[in-house]
Amino acid sequence: MDTTLFSEYIPLKSIEITDRFWRQKQELVRTQVIPYQYEALHDRIDGAEASYSVSNFIKAADIVKKLSNGEDVPVYPADKWHYDEANADECAFHGWVFQDSDVYKWIEAVGYSLSSHPDAVLQKKAEDIIDLICSSQMENGYLDTLYIINNRDGIFSNLKDFHELYCFGHLTEAAISFYNSTGDRRLLNAACRFADLICETFGETKIKGYPGHEIAEMALVKLYDVTLNRQYLETARFFINERGKKPYYYDTVLGRTTVEDNYHYNQAHCEPRHQHEAVGHAVRGVYLYSGMADIAKRYRDDELSTACQKILSNIINRKMYITGGIGSTALGEAFSFDYDLPNDLAYSETCASVGLIFFARRMLEIAPDSDTADTVERALYNTVLSGMSEDGRSFFYANPLEVLPEASHKDERKRHIKPTRQKWFGCACCPPNVARLISSIGEYCCTQNDSTVYIHQYIGAKITSSKGRLEILSDYLSIGKICVRIFPEKEFTLAVRIPKWCDSYTFSHKCEIRNGYAYFKIFDETQIDIQFEISVRMIKCSNRVRANIGKIAVTRGPFIYCLEEVDNGADLQMLSIDKNTSFSLDGQYIIAEGYREKDCESLYETFKEAEKSDVKLKFIPYYKWANRGENEMCVYIRAE
Ligand SMILES: [Zn+2]
Repeated sequence: MDTTLFSEYIPLKSIEITDRFWRQKQELVRTQVIPYQYEALHDRIDGAEASYSVSNFIKAADIVKKLSNGEDVPVYPADKWHYDEANADECAFHGWVFQDSDVYKWIEAVGYSLSSHPDAVLQKKAEDIIDLICSSQMENGYLDTLYIINNRDGIFSNLKDFHELYCFGHLTEAAISFYNSTGDRRLLNAACRFADLICETFGETKIKGYPGHEIAEMALVKLYDVTLNRQYLETARFFINERGKKPYYYDTVLGRTTVEDNYHYNQAHCEPRHQHEAVGHAVRGVYLYSGMADIAKRYRDDELSTACQKILSNIINRKMYITGGIGSTALGEAFSFDYDLPNDLAYSETCASVGLIFFARRMLEIAPDSDTADTVERALYNTVLSGMSEDGRSFFYANPLEVLPEASHKDERKRHIKPTRQKWFGCACCPPNVARLISSIGEYCCTQNDSTVYIHQYIGAKITSSKGRLEILSDYLSIGKICVRIFPEKEFTLAVRIPKWCDSYTFSHKCEIRNGYAYFKIFDETQIDIQFEISVRMIKCSNRVRANIGKIAVTRGPFIYCLEEVDNGADLQMLSIDKNTSFSLDGQYIIAEGYREKDCESLYETFKEAEKSDVKLKFIPYYKWANRGENEMCVYIRAE
């Protein structure tokens, strides 16, 4: 590990987003998503699946109060992943075992939003919920409504399946976000009290367990960064080092001597430092890998860092859709085997791409690498943005690359493929994850160390760094042009990423090119102009991906494009693109020459060249699909 390459991301308070594209997305989150989610958390949305999130906290706060008064409180079973009117007592916990995390993700997004857009009314709403959360915390610091309401004796008894440490992770991320933007310490104190209990409970000489759904690892590191309490960092490292050791904790805790379960699902099949392939539940995976990267950097742990690099390389080169989606199979919401990337069955959960961005940013903090920064861009501008509708009112959970609405309605195997975005989900992980990422997008643009400021993402912004001020003016998305104005307080190096999609570029100043970055020496106030040639490209996929043989995808800059029925008629599978086509732009569309085969009703017949007619193909950015009603969509098209 070359520690001279280590860098830190630039915190939100030092970066003001001025970019028109991203300001508009952040405004949508602020004005649509956050208020909508607030209503959803309170179960006030007609026709949406119930959340029960706030009502669980109300029940828990009541129980904590009764316990402190010495009153008897009933106990209910904590033995399922989901509880509702059909299977749970009215006074018991309701919803998914991880329901608390939805409230936390909402507060986290509010915190980020307040840092760029103060809003007293919104802040008051968050403060009221924080009061409720704090009054739900048990005297010993424990804070998870499932066990507080249902089974105080069962706390930490099923780390594999029930999500106490996962909810703790989201509590912590929310607390830090809200503290950073408002200075309000109440939720941070609650997170620290819960963290203290976790540190007292787990460790070498204590319970040798670890989270079933990872996130506590990276959350504890973040909490260490804020509080400098070393035990948080030590416990994060303990969770990572203990994971996957044999005999497996999840077996021994149940008195089992044999392996009874598939621990690949939880990335607990072997110790993380010996893992070299992305496996199991994709969101859990990228959250674990993020924590591993955090620990690798802070402890200068070469072996762990190498494991992270191999896993990231496995994802980028074998297991990622062209849209930056990961976790290709719905079975276990998981990574599949190498090159198994079906278009129409893709799971590609929005959260998994959000988590991939978390992981990639941490890897960039270990060493700048343009492939890694390209991956952030790919996931961000395609799968993550696709996760939210243009009006900010509906969301995708799965992000397929080919959709036939009839199949979604009639084929059980494609039940997870929704042809239109949904208002809300009972398991509502994705909408708040999109909200918190968009609201904190500034944290993913740049990193810096003693000598260098790195620009990884070209998002218009004003940045205050330890080396001076930077103003990034970006027309990157439309014409590939960026201007960086620099007002240095001392000499430093500016490094800017050269995106892999760009074959031709010009810089106004002399620079040195290394690892996909251009390095400029900055002595005085100056302006660097960057021009990336942004042409339409046809991209082919490895022929190991069986679904895409003979097909291409159309891209421009960071955007992957797709065809929709509303622009191109039904039966998109009958379309092909002329491989020698020229491309033109028409507003949001890319226009190309192509063909439509004549419809053939007979199921089998002697082969002959298909009759076809010339057509104009209209491609639209993938992230914009399904904003005009239910219709067919595909990313890949046959080329001939
Ligand atoms: Zn999700």
